[in-house]
Amino acid sequence: MIREVLRMGDPRLWRVSAPVERFGTRELDGLLQDMRDTMAAQNGAGLAAPQIGVGLRVVIFGVEANPRYPDAEPVPYTELVNPVLTPLSAETEEGWEGCLSVPGLRGVVPRHTAMRYEGFDPRGRPIRREVTGFHARVVQHECDHLDGILYPMRMTDMRRFGYTEILFPDSAGEEEGAVPAAGGGGAARPAARRRPRRPRPPPLRELPPRGRALGRPCWARGPVGATGASARVASEGPGGAPYTRSCS
Ligand SMILES: [Zn+2]
Repeated sequence: MIREVLRMGDPRLWRVSAPVERFGTRELDGLLQDMRDTMAAQNGAGLAAPQIGVGLRVVIFGVEANPRYPDAEPVPYTELVNPVLTPLSAETEEGWEGCLSVPGLRGVVPRHTAMRYEGFDPRGRPIRREVTGFHARVVQHECDHLDGILYPMRMTDMRRFGYTEILFPDSAGEEEGAVPAAGGGGAARPAARRRPRRPRPPPLRELPPRGRALGRPCWARGPVGATGASARVASEGPGGAPYTRSCS
């Protein structure tokens, strides 16, 4: 069932969610079905349970490969319960993000470039991955929701926060409401079949403020090792919520 996505300002988005204590239950299956339906309906790249008003530590995410945007890294469709995130280095990089709970807006957010994430699938089987680049960004964004953090709270320059149609006029209307990435990769999941069209990343020169080294839009980011020229920052995210703590 498609659920309403809570929008920024709703106090339920600020809460710290509780761990799932039982796997393989009808309740958890139902929650995940609703999350898949809602993410697909919104053309999102990911969704966290608190965004539909459920205070449990459950996120889903995935991005299909899209020949129109060969630089966009596919991210396998994943259902992740009780995640724990560990940065693999202090290195961060900037990238554009959006959020279904902050519709119509985009902002540049520093994120760790390489992360380990651990957790469980809905049956309780362990998941452990080490990821970089866009995959790492999506995971960090979604797990932030479990701690009541929306991406604007991690921004360091509010001049790089604005309306999608102003920031990216060429893509206006194409990605309203979509998250940093979208969809579901590989597996024939409902979300994957609904993979949205992704806006063409604008050239750097079009990104405000002009002349700043902003890095490429997050959905255009290549493998970390191959994009050494991407804008990177040394600081942790703002808001007193660095990723030195776990996400569980
Ligand atoms: Zn979000």
